[in-house]
Amino acid sequence: MRAIRRFTVRPALPEPLAALGDLASNLRWSWHQETQDVFATVDAEAWKRSGKDPVKMLGEVSPARLTELAGDKKFRKRLELAAADLDQYLTGDRWFQQNAGDDAPAAIAYFSPEFGITSVLPQYSGGLGILAGDHLKTASDMGIPIIGVCLLYRHGYFRQALSFEGWQQETYPVLDPDGLPISLLREVDDTPVKVAIDVPGDTLVARVWVASVGRVPLLLLDSDVEENSLALREVTDRLYGGTTEHRLLQELLLGVGGVRAIRAYSRINGSPAPEVFHTNEGHAGFLGLERIRELSVEESGPRLDFDTALEVSRAGTVFTTHTPVPAGIDRFPRDLVAQYFGSTSPTPGVPVDRILALGEESYAGGDRGVFNMAVMGFRLAQRANGVSLLHGHVSRGMFNGLWPAFDEDEVPITSITNGVHAPTWVAPEVLTLADEVGADLDSEAADAFDVVDKIPGKKLWDTKRVLRQRLVDDARARLRASWLKRGAATAELGWIDNVLDPDVLTIGFARRVPSYKRLTLMLRDPERLKALLLHPERPIQLVIAGKAHPADEGGKKLIQEIVRFSDDPEVRHRIVFLPNYDIAMAQPLYPGCDVWLNNPLRPYEACGTSGMKAALNGGLNLSILDGWWDEWYDGDNGWAIPSADGVDDPDRRDDIEAHALYDLIESEVAARFYDLDPSGLPVRWLEMVRHTLKSLGPKVVSSRMLRDYTERLYVPAAQTSRLVNHDYKGAAALADWKQRVRAGWPAVRVDHVESAGLEDVPEMGGVMELRAFVSLGDLAPDDVDVQVVHGRVRGEDDLVDQVAQSLTLTENFEAGRYRFDGRLTLSRTGPFGYTVRVLPRNELLATPAELGVVTLA
Ligand SMILES: *Cc1c(COP(=O)(O)O)cnc(C)c1O
Repeated sequence: MRAIRRFTVRPALPEPLAALGDLASNLRWSWHQETQDVFATVDAEAWKRSGKDPVKMLGEVSPARLTELAGDKKFRKRLELAAADLDQYLTGDRWFQQNAGDDAPAAIAYFSPEFGITSVLPQYSGGLGILAGDHLKTASDMGIPIIGVCLLYRHGYFRQALSFEGWQQETYPVLDPDGLPISLLREVDDTPVKVAIDVPGDTLVARVWVASVGRVPLLLLDSDVEENSLALREVTDRLYGGTTEHRLLQELLLGVGGVRAIRAYSRINGSPAPEVFHTNEGHAGFLGLERIRELSVEESGPRLDFDTALEVSRAGTVFTTHTPVPAGIDRFPRDLVAQYFGSTSPTPGVPVDRILALGEESYAGGDRGVFNMAVMGFRLAQRANGVSLLHGHVSRGMFNGLWPAFDEDEVPITSITNGVHAPTWVAPEVLTLADEVGADLDSEAADAFDVVDKIPGKKLWDTKRVLRQRLVDDARARLRASWLKRGAATAELGWIDNVLDPDVLTIGFARRVPSYKRLTLMLRDPERLKALLLHPERPIQLVIAGKAHPADEGGKKLIQEIVRFSDDPEVRHRIVFLPNYDIAMAQPLYPGCDVWLNNPLRPYEACGTSGMKAALNGGLNLSILDGWWDEWYDGDNGWAIPSADGVDDPDRRDDIEAHALYDLIESEVAARFYDLDPSGLPVRWLEMVRHTLKSLGPKVVSSRMLRDYTERLYVPAAQTSRLVNHDYKGAAALADWKQRVRAGWPAVRVDHVESAGLEDVPEMGGVMELRAFVSLGDLAPDDVDVQVVHGRVRGEDDLVDQVAQSLTLTENFEAGRYRFDGRLTLSRTGPFGYTVRVLPRNELLATPAELGVVTLA
């Protein structure tokens, strides 16, 4: 019999154990080992059975056990301490309160289409969600006042299994919100909060759930409510599924509905309104339109004109782009967006033509038929970033069309390299080692990890073995379950007891399976791989995992290739594919690996974070120089697989890179791992582990990332936001000024430039006097910055390594002509060049490229 409806009944905890409920309902337990230990003490078996899900576990503990615990003085004391610790964590001053200063934002809203916080709340598909989860947890640890916004997907992302033939099977388990660690956002009179947005011919209603991520609330919008038609109830059915229109509805709910949910949350809790809105990838970009509606249309609002409202909203918006893969950019048919924002609109009163213009690919090579969410993201945010140095560079090239007058390196997209949340991703044993030598994982000091030198080699190595053993056990259990699902009988599976070996060099490779990540590069020469796996003295073993998007047949084929290879009785004890890569699998996987392999097609890996998690657990990276590895590989903290950039034939490129990979594994990686000293320690390997921890540790932790976001984006955004917001005059003036400057710009000219003062043969240290005569038409000298830009000359006359220096106004002529002077000191030898340019200048601009206009001599 099937139930027609299901729900979860929460236990009534005896009064003395009430704190267990508090501990379970704040997700801080998911990165706090001591709290997990308390749950394990309640009922070790039930804790394990529940998959370490406290809400589920508490529902299963027998009343008798609860009564027993209620009478157990020692347990009650422990519980009291845990509760006091949580309370202290939630209320005490942390980094932000001590360091951020008066300019810091009162609150920051962080929107993301997915959040990976714990396997108990499966609302993520991969790296983007995990990063968003780490962002919230770290913000909580640091006391940064963030509020997260997402949808509550009734099915989350799919669960992956394999068919007998090794083909990916997807299932979508139903999540019962009552069984999740979330609670409904309610008005003071206890009625559930509902947000509503108009869609063609209907109204989309959503309730709002709140997950407590330590100090950070995460709002989750859920369309599965009775007010909605059946079709609209399905809007939040699953992550990244369904038609284009379905996706548009999800993004409208996330962006527009998300802002409305925040307003309700602030109103009910009396918490400050966010001054900064951060969109993690383009999907939530519609939030900017809702903010413009609030400012320009809403009865109780300030009723600004569109351009002024845009300036106000832009000033406080940060946009992070996450992919250099053009197909990964979120785009909608323009007509569909026009239809939605036409007659009945989710943001009524905001002109549809202005909305369409925001998402238009109005640059050379752009497609006028689409509405591009990334392009809108850049236009609605004054500050934007990519997620590694290399990705910042690639993004500036990719979106140069939005600022065509500027060289790529002046495109206003900066970068902040991703990081990972150490308390979530570092194995407890490693944290204990770090603790013993007094390492402070949150320290800002570059030498914070140097204390790892104090850990004796034997201790380090023994710990690694414990972690490898745990991975081996976990992998065997998963493999057995997978084979049973694939149709094998238990009696056939004895071989699984000998799969993987806790003393063999273990290489991990787990990630989503888009083609650029090249899951099967290692299979390029199967015989060569076999030889590495089966090497008589220096074997390697491979643990592989990853999900293909349900619509990606190509990706599923790659998985099948790997599965078929690893099904072969000759090698199956040395290579495994584990289905259903998720947080629960990842947590023992990274620490259990000696080497983390990553072989994307450069430069399509925007950042990558799994290798960072491996590094923090003493794993060594073996990777193509892409994403974060391109930035922080130093020659000694792992290995760089040479990439055949510039080889156009993809087959040949794969061949070259695969063979480089095999060679590296054989002659460097395995050779070093098995090079033991007389006491049985791989001394040179451990040296590299220590160097990895010291050189990468302080950089890859997400506290570094959150400091960067706070100092470089959130605080400046809050400052500009306040300047334009306090009475909106700043914004109105800025909007007028921009219009005036854009209109007047065609008349701006550099008429001529004079220089004097240099010897015939210029020498280092020589000083050049510069005079630039410019025409500004109707613009005033205050509206512009006249600069000399100098640097090295490459090729014919290409300026590189440019430095810009402002010139000073010295003379006014009639008819809008001016003279600007400056002195330029020759500070480098070799080919030197300069030019003069005019840029718009206004203290409210985040960068001079913001208007996209510049005039060169
Ligand atoms: C870290 C992580 C990812 C992202 O890894 P990448 O290196 O960015 O591919 C994906 N899934 C899970 C479960 C993770 O823990």
